[in-house]
Amino acid sequence: MQSQVVVLQLDVRGVPQRWASLEAAVTYVALDAVAWVGGDSPLATLRGGRNVRTGRRSSIDVWPIVALRGAMPQVGIDAVPAVTRRRLLRRDRHTCAYCGGRFETDQLTCEHIVPVSRGGRTTWMNLVAACTACNGRKADRTPEEAGMRLRYLPYVPNRFESLLLDGRRIRADVNEWLAARLPKDSRLQ
Ligand SMILES: [Zn+2]
Repeated sequence: MQSQVVVLQLDVRGVPQRWASLEAAVTYVALDAVAWVGGDSPLATLRGGRNVRTGRRSSIDVWPIVALRGAMPQVGIDAVPAVTRRRLLRRDRHTCAYCGGRFETDQLTCEHIVPVSRGGRTTWMNLVAACTACNGRKADRTPEEAGMRLRYLPYVPNRFESLLLDGRRIRADVNEWLAARLPKDSRLQ
């Protein structure tokens, strides 16, 4: 069974790297690779064996935010997250950029503001969520040509936001930690 991914893994400077499994986080603690931790309380406390000399029982606290020390492949704070459908629809809060309606995932498209046929690219700044009706009505035209105004503007999510966009069942304290670091124009605020 695939374990649930629950721990926000940061580099030592606090730049989010990925969602790690509880098992991976336990390993980091065991390897003494954790520089600092965050969150309101541990996610889990794992009991180990009894120390023969002291008679004390070892335990490992796993926190929901763990910053790792040392040189590992690092994702920089300025790295632009890859555009995916899931991230885009969540960035735009499942709201059509043209009619402003909220829709289910399967009723939304990733709409190129400047159509691909006109040189528009698949980037955060040229994509918005649009319902299938608006997408069909706009067709292969720019918003100006179609007479359809954008109700909100696209933006590039930062590292903190991309982790929020990817997360599932994010614990409240971790959500808060990430939300406090969102760009000013983020719609996830
Ligand atoms: Zn629409």
